[in-house]
Amino acid sequence: MNDSAIRLGIDLGGTKIELIALDPQGDEIWRQRVATPKGNYRETLNAIVLLVEQAEQALGDRGTIGLGAPGALSKLTGHLKNANSTCLNGRPLLQDLQELLGRPVKIANDADCFALSEAIDGAGAGADIVFGVILGTGVGGGIVVNKRLLNGPNAIAGEWGHNPLPWPLDDERPGPGCYCGKSGCIETFLSGPGLALLHSRLTDQHLDADAIARRAAGGCIACETSMRSYEDRLARALAHVINILDPHIIVVGGGLSNCRRFYHNVPKRWQRYVFSDRVDTRLLPPRHGDSSGVRGAAWLWNG
Ligand SMILES: [Zn+2]
Repeated sequence: MNDSAIRLGIDLGGTKIELIALDPQGDEIWRQRVATPKGNYRETLNAIVLLVEQAEQALGDRGTIGLGAPGALSKLTGHLKNANSTCLNGRPLLQDLQELLGRPVKIANDADCFALSEAIDGAGAGADIVFGVILGTGVGGGIVVNKRLLNGPNAIAGEWGHNPLPWPLDDERPGPGCYCGKSGCIETFLSGPGLALLHSRLTDQHLDADAIARRAAGGCIACETSMRSYEDRLARALAHVINILDPHIIVVGGGLSNCRRFYHNVPKRWQRYVFSDRVDTRLLPPRHGDSSGVRGAAWLWNG
């Protein structure tokens, strides 16, 4: 690509489609969002094309286009798979967009876009190996090495959410059932609903993840116990990643990234699980917050 080009990034979500434009220095020069047409693939395509046309008309320039989507692009068929917006699954999204927009388009999943954004000019800027983790309604991840997404033959690099929780305790086996068909996946323990489930099993109280974190901060002992148990699970799950990938930085995104206590407590706990006498990996909150997905999509065209 031409280094002086504008980069357009699009975040295709279940409720909204957002577009930003970055100038060659990475500064945001345009942003617009629209509601995602419900369950209609053709209208979703049209909404994306319209956002691009409006941005390029306003900026008087043509840009490169990266798109962050739920799910992953199947290498086998070129179609989208594993998306929770099911009207997208099995559709030739990449091919259709390239045809409609008249240029090459790059697509990555939202966890990959998050990891890329934070690795390029976010919390992981300057680090060689960055693992980006999403802890939200689901659990995902992406790996960036030397400012480039790791992209293997199965398009699943960093997808640790459907590995089993490591070093399980007796009451964590076989673990909750997961939509992927297995039991005891990391996602069933570390997603927001996973924290809520943990707390309801310990206390019979039905609170969501936000409320549990808030009450723990306010001195509720039962919520504090749940938070500590969650932190130990997170430490085990991340220690497993550190043993394989040895990242310099792990950046956390998603709703649970707002729990500031994790950045202090979890590295203290992972020490006992990582196979090394000292651990220099740092656990950090995101710099770009909710904008990471759309910024990462723009950065898919990086040099
Ligand atoms: Zn699973």
